[in-house]
Amino acid sequence: MAIGILGGGLAGLTIAAHLDHDCEVLEKESRGGGHCQTVQEQGFTYDAGGPHIIFSRNQEMVDYMVALLGDNVHRARRNNKIFYKGRYVKYPFENGLFDLDPQDRFECLYHYIKNDYPPPQTNFKEWIYHHFGKGLAEKYLIPYNEKIWNVPAEELGLEWVEGRVPKPPIEDVIKAAVGVETEGYTHQLYFHYPAHGGIESLPRAMRECVHNLVPDFPVERIWKEGSRWCVSNSQSAQGQSSQGQSTRRYDALVSTIPIQELAASLDGTPPEILTAVNALRYNSLVTVTIGLNTARLPDYTAIYVPDPEVRFHRLSFPASFSPHNAPPGQTIIQAEITTNPGDGTHELTDEELLADVIHDLQDMDLVRRSEVCYSRVLRTKYGYVVQNDDCRRHLHRAKAYFEQIGIPLCGRVAEFEYINMDVCIERARKIADRLNREALVPRDPVEAAV
Ligand SMILES: Cc1cc2nc3c(=O)[nH]c(=O)nc-3n(C[C@H](O)[C@H](O)[C@H](O)COP(=O)(O)OP(=O)(O)OC[C@H]3O[C@@H](n4cnc5c(N)ncnc54)[C@H](O)[C@@H]3O)c2cc1C
Repeated sequence: MAIGILGGGLAGLTIAAHLDHDCEVLEKESRGGGHCQTVQEQGFTYDAGGPHIIFSRNQEMVDYMVALLGDNVHRARRNNKIFYKGRYVKYPFENGLFDLDPQDRFECLYHYIKNDYPPPQTNFKEWIYHHFGKGLAEKYLIPYNEKIWNVPAEELGLEWVEGRVPKPPIEDVIKAAVGVETEGYTHQLYFHYPAHGGIESLPRAMRECVHNLVPDFPVERIWKEGSRWCVSNSQSAQGQSSQGQSTRRYDALVSTIPIQELAASLDGTPPEILTAVNALRYNSLVTVTIGLNTARLPDYTAIYVPDPEVRFHRLSFPASFSPHNAPPGQTIIQAEITTNPGDGTHELTDEELLADVIHDLQDMDLVRRSEVCYSRVLRTKYGYVVQNDDCRRHLHRAKAYFEQIGIPLCGRVAEFEYINMDVCIERARKIADRLNREALVPRDPVEAAV
């Protein structure tokens, strides 16, 4: 059996690395890695699509990822802050109450204890008020989440929240308010990161077990010929041509490419599935990375910025993930900005975004313009999957369709879920196991019920 794997990010490479069957990974870019690509320039190393650290609630997955990296691992301790009213507050906010001014501290603690908001019925905003109270909700959780998700918190559903946003025990919140040290989100208090080469070292290590990655192959058209799937890098291609058009044939397919691109490429996708897929919301991400001719930056790993007047929602410091990420005597800082077409940010040029970020970093006393020796602005189209309930309904329908016609989906952009590397790898290994066990008999798309 020959299996075609669409997309060579972490999910696609993991499937290929674990398949017993012949397979090929079709990747539109010149190298695999997808979201986990790393830039190495002028001695600086940073992740192109935002900082990626290795952590998981599932210790087996941490062990697996660390083992893949062999000796190329650095272990670090989180030192995150939240920039609130000019103060650097310990992260997560509820564990940093002592860093607030006394009035803010009182309001957070009082409302956390007194909290009489009813259990959430439908949306994330209700969930925040119910679990954290008005103080924590309005000072940090709502403004920060509305920045990163780029939608009002009441438009976000509940399905994704449990497990992703831990609820602190009351003892910890009281201790934090009176100045006793506590830690939250302990599953990522210590994390791993490649010592050299940035997070791309992880898919690169996986890639070593994959012999058949076809780069520069954008999947543009998928159709059936008898029982076989045909995949072409051209909308109009029917066979080989001298102009770089190519058609590959497989007994089975797995898709890890964005669900929107799969639906658009597949011949005969029913209009209602196209409509459902096109209704899915996602946020794009801009990263603005700045290298500095100084090692003066504080030893923070990341700073969260809820202030709606500041364009970026998070800053990270790649040299705190691994000391090899910046040359001696220099350092590096990366700002992340969530954006969508039409929001004003999306339309800014790279130069305008860079100037805006440097301006705010100067205000935060993190950067002096004269110290900037490197900069790059990068854009990731499918950054964050927006978890609204409407989206969930459309998604269930579309996923059921692709599963039914014999194209399983795997990974963050294919399944359109807010999942990290650990879950992508876990699910990819399960799909590979399933394909190894099953003799797949894909069905004809036109016969599949929607
Ligand atoms: C800002 C940010 C920070 C994150 N931080 C962390 C973190 O700290 N820790 C963590 O564990 N996870 C983190 N993640 C999540 C992690 O990036 C993903 O879970 C994981 O990399 C997804 O891998 P994937 O293979 O499913 O998708 P992708 O990496 O998107 O792979 C899809 C691949 O398909 C290719 N492709 C797309 N269209 C086509 C086409 N038409 N034809 C052929 N190929 C195509 C793409 O080029 C890409 O290589 C973060 C994500 C973001 C956005």
